[in-house]
Amino acid sequence: MSTERGRGFRDSRAWVEIDRQALRANLETIRRRVGSHVGLIPMVKADAYGLGVGEVVRTFEPLDPLAYGVAAVQEGIDLRERGVTRPVIVFSPVVDDECEDAVEHGLTLSVSSMQSLRALDRASQVLGRDTAFHVDVDTGMGRSGFDWNRGPEWIPRIAELQREGLAWEGCYTHFHSADLTDPVTVHEQWARFREVVDAGVDERVCIHACNSAAALSVPELAADAVRPGIFLFGGRAGETLDAPAPVVSLRARVTLVREVAAGTSVGYGATWVADRPSRLATLGIGYGDGFPRALSNRGRVLIRGSSAPIVGRISMDVTVVDVSHVPAVECGDVATLIGSDGSASISVDEVAESVGTISYEVLTQLTARLPRLWRD
Ligand SMILES: *Cc1c(COP(=O)(O)O)cnc(C)c1O
Repeated sequence: MSTERGRGFRDSRAWVEIDRQALRANLETIRRRVGSHVGLIPMVKADAYGLGVGEVVRTFEPLDPLAYGVAAVQEGIDLRERGVTRPVIVFSPVVDDECEDAVEHGLTLSVSSMQSLRALDRASQVLGRDTAFHVDVDTGMGRSGFDWNRGPEWIPRIAELQREGLAWEGCYTHFHSADLTDPVTVHEQWARFREVVDAGVDERVCIHACNSAAALSVPELAADAVRPGIFLFGGRAGETLDAPAPVVSLRARVTLVREVAAGTSVGYGATWVADRPSRLATLGIGYGDGFPRALSNRGRVLIRGSSAPIVGRISMDVTVVDVSHVPAVECGDVATLIGSDGSASISVDEVAESVGTISYEVLTQLTARLPRLWRD
């Protein structure tokens, strides 16, 4: 770990800690589950779910992934600028005028309409550069893709447009409920997808469908490649599926400790009032760092191995916790908001659940004000 990052650790009021070993182990878990003949396409959109795409890709490179998945052309360009030479697939639909940028940077677009395939074709001819594309098939997700039940219409039209320099490289679908215990819709979507693939998609086209949850729960549907995201970054892929190794910890330091009298109120709206003399610790983290404000008066943190409740509303920059029962808390102590402290721990899924959201949102909300500290 560089001294620069080490210094960031000591000087920060709050930070995100990332366990490189665990990140790597989670990708290896997926590989073991689906078999080493299946290609891995780690999804690193949204700055690798908020962890920081540069270090995430550096961690995965030695594991030889087939490609990386992003959502936006700019995210793909960012990977190229970081020196990534593997295929980079842009999975969300793009506007026609983004095609030239994509082709210029050697990105692989996912296409959901003949119009966007034609725009890609034009961009490739204008620039005189070869390009490749993956075809998105909508089997029930309803946000993008060609209709699964109209394959006989669009498959020949795509095949017609193909030429040397415009290669149909992949064909995929996306499951909407692979995280649920009952995989009935997964199998229904898979059957629809197979119908399309069997209707005339060339054998050399890379077939893929599984996100983290599907890769773990129905590895027999892994086909040629899988697209794991959340599991790699330490979020559970489904309630009944194996938990990932924890990757992300969120820490903040105690910046002030006060003994307050009964009747003291805390935070905007004075929504919490001490009913007895109390010891309160102020933490250097708030919703401006991405710590969910919805945890006000309901979340907890760990300090010196004990659980301390969040009292009052979380502010933009600070959060107050009641440490009356935790002896010896002092200014400078490190509180754990996600992660472990001794034998106690708070998972990212616990935080997400207590505010009615998913781990994906909690992770991607962590703002740039929090330095990312990589532990090897
Ligand atoms: C984000 C995404 C994934 C990864 O999903 P997880 O649930 O995070 O594993 C896979 N495929 C596509 C098309 C995606 O957009």
